[in-house]
Amino acid sequence: MKITYSIIAPIYNERENLAELHRRVSEVMKQTSKPWELVLVDDGSTDGSTEMIRELAKKDKHIRPVIFARNFGHQIAITAGWDYARGDAVVIIDADLQDPPELILEMSQKWQEGYEVVYAVRAEREGESWFKLWTASIFYRIIFRITDVKIPLDTGDFRLMDRKVVNVLKSMRERHRFPRGMSAWVGFKQIGVEYKRAARVAGETKYPFKKMFRLAINAVTSFSYFPLQVATFVGFIAAGISIIAIPIVAYMRISGSSAFFGQATTLIAVLFLGGVQLISLGILGEYIGRLYDEAKGRPLYIVREAPEKQ
Ligand code: UDP
Ligand code: MG
Repeated sequence: MKITYSIIAPIYNERENLAELHRRVSEVMKQTSKPWELVLVDDGSTDGSTEMIRELAKKDKHIRPVIFARNFGHQIAITAGWDYARGDAVVIIDADLQDPPELILEMSQKWQEGYEVVYAVRAEREGESWFKLWTASIFYRIIFRITDVKIPLDTGDFRLMDRKVVNVLKSMRERHRFPRGMSAWVGFKQIGVEYKRAARVAGETKYPFKKMFRLAINAVTSFSYFPLQVATFVGFIAAGISIIAIPIVAYMRISGSSAFFGQATTLIAVLFLGGVQLISLGILGEYIGRLYDEAKGRPLYIVREAPEKQ
Protein backbone atom coordinates (compact mmCIF):
# COMPACT_ATOMS: atom_id res chain seq x y z
CA MET A 1 0.00 0.00 0.00
CA LYS A 2 1.22 3.46 -0.81
CA ILE A 3 1.83 5.56 2.29
CA THR A 4 0.95 9.25 2.25
CA TYR A 5 2.23 10.42 5.64
CA SER A 6 5.28 9.22 7.55
CA ILE A 7 5.63 10.60 11.05
CA ILE A 8 9.15 10.19 12.44
CA ALA A 9 9.67 10.30 16.19
CA PRO A 10 13.16 9.77 17.66
CA ILE A 11 12.92 7.99 20.99
CA TYR A 12 15.53 8.14 23.71
CA ASN A 13 14.18 6.96 27.06
CA GLU A 14 10.64 8.18 26.48
CA ARG A 15 8.76 5.31 28.12
CA GLU A 16 6.24 7.58 29.81
CA ASN A 17 5.43 9.43 26.60
CA LEU A 18 5.17 6.61 24.09
CA ALA A 19 1.55 5.58 24.63
CA GLU A 20 0.34 9.16 24.64
CA LEU A 21 2.38 9.95 21.51
CA HIS A 22 0.88 6.97 19.73
CA ARG A 23 -2.64 7.92 20.81
CA ARG A 24 -2.40 11.56 19.77
CA VAL A 25 -0.69 10.89 16.46
CA SER A 26 -3.24 8.16 15.61
CA GLU A 27 -6.11 10.48 16.41
CA VAL A 28 -4.74 13.25 14.21
CA MET A 29 -3.84 10.97 11.34
CA LYS A 30 -7.30 9.37 11.32
CA GLN A 31 -8.70 12.77 10.42
CA THR A 32 -6.63 12.86 7.22
CA SER A 33 -8.18 9.55 6.04
CA LYS A 34 -4.95 8.83 4.17
CA PRO A 35 -2.59 5.88 4.75
CA TRP A 36 0.10 6.76 7.28
CA GLU A 37 2.91 5.25 9.34
CA LEU A 38 4.64 6.20 12.56
CA VAL A 39 8.39 5.56 12.32
CA LEU A 40 9.66 5.12 15.87
CA VAL A 41 13.44 5.30 15.92
CA ASP A 42 14.72 3.91 19.19
CA ASP A 43 18.02 5.68 19.82
CA GLY A 44 19.49 3.18 22.27
CA SER A 45 16.94 3.64 25.05
CA THR A 46 17.71 1.96 28.35
CA ASP A 47 14.44 2.53 30.19
CA GLY A 48 12.29 -0.11 28.50
CA SER A 49 11.12 2.11 25.64
CA THR A 50 12.51 -0.47 23.23
CA GLU A 51 10.22 -3.23 24.51
CA MET A 52 7.28 -0.83 24.47
CA ILE A 53 7.98 0.04 20.83
CA ARG A 54 8.06 -3.66 19.93
CA GLU A 55 4.76 -4.20 21.74
CA LEU A 56 3.09 -1.24 20.07
CA ALA A 57 4.33 -2.40 16.66
CA LYS A 58 2.78 -5.82 17.23
CA LYS A 59 -0.58 -4.30 18.04
CA ASP A 60 -0.67 -1.53 15.46
CA LYS A 61 0.54 -2.05 11.92
CA HIS A 62 0.95 1.70 11.43
CA ILE A 63 4.08 1.56 13.55
CA ARG A 64 7.43 1.03 11.86
CA PRO A 65 10.04 0.30 14.51
CA VAL A 66 13.72 1.04 13.87
CA ILE A 67 15.87 -0.05 16.78
CA PHE A 68 19.47 1.21 17.06
CA ALA A 69 22.29 -0.85 18.51
CA ARG A 70 23.22 2.05 20.82
CA ASN A 71 22.62 5.76 21.35
CA PHE A 72 23.66 7.69 18.25
CA GLY A 73 22.01 11.00 19.05
CA HIS A 74 18.89 12.85 18.02
CA GLN A 75 20.18 14.06 14.63
CA ILE A 76 21.23 10.60 13.53
CA ALA A 77 17.90 9.16 14.70
CA ILE A 78 16.13 11.66 12.45
CA THR A 79 18.37 10.56 9.57
CA ALA A 80 17.41 6.93 10.11
CA GLY A 81 13.80 8.08 10.11
CA TRP A 82 14.34 9.61 6.66
CA ASP A 83 15.90 6.38 5.44
CA TYR A 84 13.03 4.19 6.62
CA ALA A 85 10.08 6.51 5.92
CA ARG A 86 8.00 5.62 2.87
CA GLY A 87 5.45 8.43 2.80
CA ASP A 88 4.94 11.16 0.22
CA ALA A 89 5.09 13.66 3.08
CA VAL A 90 7.48 13.14 5.98
CA VAL A 91 6.99 14.79 9.37
CA ILE A 92 9.60 14.93 12.13
CA ILE A 93 8.19 15.29 15.62
CA ASP A 94 9.61 15.11 19.16
CA ALA A 95 8.43 12.12 21.15
CA ASP A 96 7.83 14.15 24.30
CA LEU A 97 4.80 15.90 22.74
CA GLN A 98 6.36 19.33 23.02
CA ASP A 99 5.40 19.56 19.37
CA PRO A 100 1.62 19.14 19.14
CA PRO A 101 0.70 16.44 16.56
CA GLU A 102 -2.46 18.43 15.83
CA LEU A 103 -0.31 20.94 13.92
CA ILE A 104 0.36 18.25 11.31
CA LEU A 105 -3.09 18.95 9.87
CA GLU A 106 -2.20 22.60 9.32
CA MET A 107 1.17 21.61 7.84
CA SER A 108 -0.45 19.14 5.49
CA GLN A 109 -2.82 21.89 4.35
CA LYS A 110 0.20 23.96 3.29
CA TRP A 111 1.74 20.91 1.66
CA GLN A 112 -1.37 20.40 -0.42
CA GLU A 113 -1.13 24.04 -1.46
CA GLY A 114 2.23 23.17 -2.99
CA TYR A 115 4.82 23.99 -0.29
CA GLU A 116 7.60 21.42 -0.10
CA VAL A 117 8.94 22.22 3.37
CA VAL A 118 6.56 23.39 6.08
CA TYR A 119 8.49 24.17 9.26
CA ALA A 120 6.98 24.96 12.64
CA VAL A 121 7.97 28.24 14.25
CA ARG A 122 7.92 28.43 18.03
CA ALA A 123 5.87 31.51 18.76
CA GLU A 124 5.74 30.68 22.45
CA ARG A 125 7.40 28.11 24.67
CA GLU A 126 6.27 26.93 28.03
CA GLY A 127 7.70 24.79 30.79
CA GLU A 128 11.34 25.41 29.95
CA SER A 129 13.94 27.11 32.11
CA TRP A 130 14.93 30.70 31.34
CA PHE A 131 18.45 29.41 30.77
CA LYS A 132 17.26 27.06 28.02
CA LEU A 133 15.10 29.75 26.40
CA TRP A 134 17.89 32.30 26.55
CA THR A 135 20.63 30.01 25.20
CA ALA A 136 18.26 28.74 22.47
CA SER A 137 17.38 32.26 21.43
CA ILE A 138 21.04 33.37 21.25
CA PHE A 139 21.90 30.15 19.43
CA TYR A 140 19.31 30.71 16.67
CA ARG A 141 20.43 34.29 16.18
CA ILE A 142 24.17 33.55 16.05
CA ILE A 143 23.58 30.73 13.57
CA PHE A 144 21.43 33.03 11.44
CA ARG A 145 24.17 35.66 11.42
CA ILE A 146 27.23 33.61 10.65
CA THR A 147 26.11 30.67 8.54
CA ASP A 148 25.66 30.85 4.81
CA VAL A 149 22.19 29.32 4.83
CA LYS A 150 19.33 31.34 6.16
CA ILE A 151 17.92 28.96 8.73
CA PRO A 152 14.57 30.40 9.91
CA LEU A 153 14.69 31.75 13.47
CA ASP A 154 13.10 29.84 16.37
CA THR A 155 12.41 26.68 14.44
CA GLY A 156 13.31 23.22 15.64
CA ASP A 157 13.18 19.98 13.73
CA PHE A 158 9.39 19.81 13.81
CA ARG A 159 8.48 20.06 10.13
CA LEU A 160 6.78 18.42 7.18
CA MET A 161 8.80 17.71 4.06
CA ASP A 162 7.83 16.51 0.64
CA ARG A 163 9.25 13.22 -0.70
CA LYS A 164 11.43 15.17 -3.19
CA VAL A 165 13.13 17.00 -0.32
CA VAL A 166 13.59 13.86 1.75
CA ASN A 167 15.23 12.10 -1.19
CA VAL A 168 17.78 14.91 -1.45
CA LEU A 169 18.41 14.87 2.30
CA LYS A 170 18.87 11.10 2.21
CA SER A 171 21.72 11.58 -0.24
CA MET A 172 23.53 13.93 2.17
CA ARG A 173 25.50 11.54 4.35
CA GLU A 174 27.56 14.00 6.38
CA ARG A 175 28.40 12.80 9.83
CA HIS A 176 28.06 15.90 11.99
CA ARG A 177 24.65 17.01 11.05
CA PHE A 178 22.23 19.77 11.71
CA PRO A 179 18.94 18.60 10.12
CA ARG A 180 17.12 21.92 10.26
CA GLY A 181 20.05 23.60 8.53
CA MET A 182 20.20 20.87 5.91
CA SER A 183 16.51 21.21 5.19
CA ALA A 184 16.93 24.98 4.74
CA TRP A 185 20.02 24.47 2.57
CA VAL A 186 18.24 22.33 -0.04
CA GLY A 187 15.94 25.16 -1.09
CA PHE A 188 12.50 24.27 -2.49
CA LYS A 189 9.32 26.12 -1.60
CA GLN A 190 9.35 26.67 2.15
CA ILE A 191 6.93 28.22 4.59
CA GLY A 192 6.52 28.42 8.37
CA VAL A 193 3.47 27.87 10.54
CA GLU A 194 3.45 29.20 14.10
CA TYR A 195 2.68 27.17 17.17
CA LYS A 196 2.94 27.21 20.90
CA ARG A 197 5.61 24.83 22.12
CA ALA A 198 4.20 22.94 25.09
CA ALA A 199 6.03 21.62 28.12
CA ARG A 200 7.20 18.01 28.10
CA VAL A 201 4.39 15.59 28.95
CA ALA A 202 6.71 13.50 31.11
CA GLY A 203 10.38 12.89 31.76
CA GLU A 204 13.34 15.22 31.52
CA THR A 205 15.09 16.91 28.64
CA LYS A 206 17.64 14.67 26.92
CA TYR A 207 19.54 17.76 25.86
CA PRO A 208 21.85 18.83 28.64
CA PHE A 209 24.04 21.86 28.05
CA LYS A 210 26.87 19.72 26.71
CA LYS A 211 24.73 18.24 23.91
CA MET A 212 23.30 21.65 23.08
CA PHE A 213 26.82 23.02 22.82
CA ARG A 214 27.86 20.21 20.47
CA LEU A 215 24.82 20.84 18.33
CA ALA A 216 25.73 24.53 18.13
CA ILE A 217 29.30 23.70 17.07
CA ASN A 218 27.94 21.26 14.47
CA ALA A 219 25.62 23.92 13.14
CA VAL A 220 28.43 26.46 12.80
CA THR A 221 31.05 24.16 11.31
CA SER A 222 28.68 22.40 8.91
CA PHE A 223 27.45 25.58 7.37
CA SER A 224 30.28 28.11 7.52
CA TYR A 225 34.01 28.80 7.67
CA PHE A 226 33.36 31.75 9.92
CA PRO A 227 35.56 30.56 12.82
CA LEU A 228 38.48 30.04 10.42
CA GLN A 229 37.94 33.49 9.00
CA VAL A 230 37.93 34.97 12.49
CA ALA A 231 41.42 33.51 13.02
CA THR A 232 42.64 35.18 9.83
CA PHE A 233 41.00 38.43 10.85
CA VAL A 234 42.58 38.47 14.31
CA GLY A 235 45.93 37.65 12.69
CA PHE A 236 45.68 40.65 10.41
CA ILE A 237 44.75 42.93 13.28
CA ALA A 238 47.68 41.73 15.43
CA ALA A 239 50.08 42.11 12.50
CA GLY A 240 48.65 45.56 11.74
CA ILE A 241 49.12 46.72 15.32
CA SER A 242 52.72 45.57 15.41
CA ILE A 243 53.54 47.25 12.10
CA ILE A 244 52.29 50.52 13.53
CA ALA A 245 53.90 49.91 16.92
CA ILE A 246 57.42 49.05 15.71
CA PRO A 247 58.34 52.51 14.31
CA ILE A 248 56.65 54.25 17.24
CA VAL A 249 58.58 52.28 19.84
CA ALA A 250 61.83 52.66 17.87
CA TYR A 251 61.31 56.40 17.68
CA MET A 252 60.56 56.64 21.42
CA ARG A 253 63.73 54.70 22.29
CA ILE A 254 65.89 56.98 20.11
CA SER A 255 64.36 60.06 21.62
CA GLY A 256 65.19 58.77 25.13
CA SER A 257 61.72 57.80 26.43
CA SER A 258 61.69 54.92 28.91
CA ALA A 259 58.20 53.63 28.09
CA PHE A 260 57.90 49.97 26.96
CA PHE A 261 60.89 48.89 29.05
CA GLY A 262 60.57 45.84 31.19
CA GLN A 263 59.45 42.28 31.03
CA ALA A 264 55.74 42.76 31.70
CA THR A 265 55.13 44.31 28.28
CA THR A 266 56.89 41.45 26.52
CA LEU A 267 55.15 38.86 28.63
CA ILE A 268 51.68 40.26 27.96
CA ALA A 269 52.30 40.41 24.22
CA VAL A 270 53.63 36.85 24.13
CA LEU A 271 50.77 35.48 26.23
CA PHE A 272 48.19 37.26 24.14
CA LEU A 273 49.58 36.03 20.84
CA GLY A 274 50.17 32.54 22.23
CA GLY A 275 46.54 32.43 23.32
CA VAL A 276 45.26 33.59 19.96
CA GLN A 277 47.45 31.05 18.19
CA LEU A 278 46.27 28.17 20.35
CA ILE A 279 42.65 29.12 19.85
CA SER A 280 43.18 29.26 16.09
CA LEU A 281 44.88 25.89 16.22
CA GLY A 282 41.93 24.50 18.15
CA ILE A 283 39.50 25.82 15.54
CA LEU A 284 41.60 24.30 12.80
CA GLY A 285 41.66 21.05 14.77
CA GLU A 286 37.88 21.06 15.00
CA TYR A 287 37.60 21.18 11.20
CA ILE A 288 40.36 18.63 10.68
CA GLY A 289 38.71 16.27 13.18
CA ARG A 290 35.53 16.49 11.15
CA LEU A 291 37.44 15.75 7.96
CA TYR A 292 38.96 12.71 9.66
CA ASP A 293 35.53 11.49 10.77
CA GLU A 294 34.22 11.84 7.24
CA ALA A 295 37.27 10.08 5.79
CA LYS A 296 36.72 7.03 7.97
CA GLY A 297 33.39 6.59 6.23
CA ARG A 298 31.76 4.55 8.96
CA PRO A 299 28.01 3.98 8.75
CA LEU A 300 26.02 6.79 10.34
CA TYR A 301 24.14 4.39 12.58
CA ILE A 302 23.81 0.68 13.26
CA VAL A 303 20.40 -0.92 13.54
CA ARG A 304 19.69 -3.96 15.65
CA GLU A 305 16.22 -4.51 14.17
CA ALA A 306 14.45 -2.68 11.40
CA PRO A 307 11.96 -3.39 8.65
CA GLU A 308 12.99 -3.55 4.98
CA LYS A 309 13.93 -0.15 3.56
CA GLN A 310 12.01 0.74 0.41
N1 UDP B 1 16.50 12.22 21.53
C1 UDP B 1 17.12 11.16 20.86
N2 UDP B 1 18.44 10.89 21.15
C2 UDP B 1 19.16 11.61 22.05
C3 UDP B 1 18.52 12.70 22.70
C4 UDP B 1 17.19 12.97 22.41
O1 UDP B 1 16.52 10.49 20.04
O2 UDP B 1 20.34 11.32 22.25
C5 UDP B 1 15.07 12.50 21.23
C6 UDP B 1 14.15 12.56 22.43
O3 UDP B 1 13.67 11.30 22.79
C7 UDP B 1 13.04 13.48 21.93
C8 UDP B 1 13.77 14.42 20.98
O4 UDP B 1 15.00 13.77 20.64
O5 UDP B 1 12.07 12.77 21.20
C9 UDP B 1 14.03 15.78 21.58
O6 UDP B 1 14.73 15.64 22.79
P1 UDP B 1 14.38 16.52 24.08
O7 UDP B 1 12.91 16.64 24.25
O8 UDP B 1 15.13 15.94 25.24
O9 UDP B 1 15.01 17.92 23.68
P2 UDP B 1 14.45 19.37 24.06
O10 UDP B 1 13.01 19.39 23.64
O11 UDP B 1 14.63 19.50 25.52
O12 UDP B 1 15.30 20.30 23.27
MG1 MG C 1 11.62 18.10 24.28
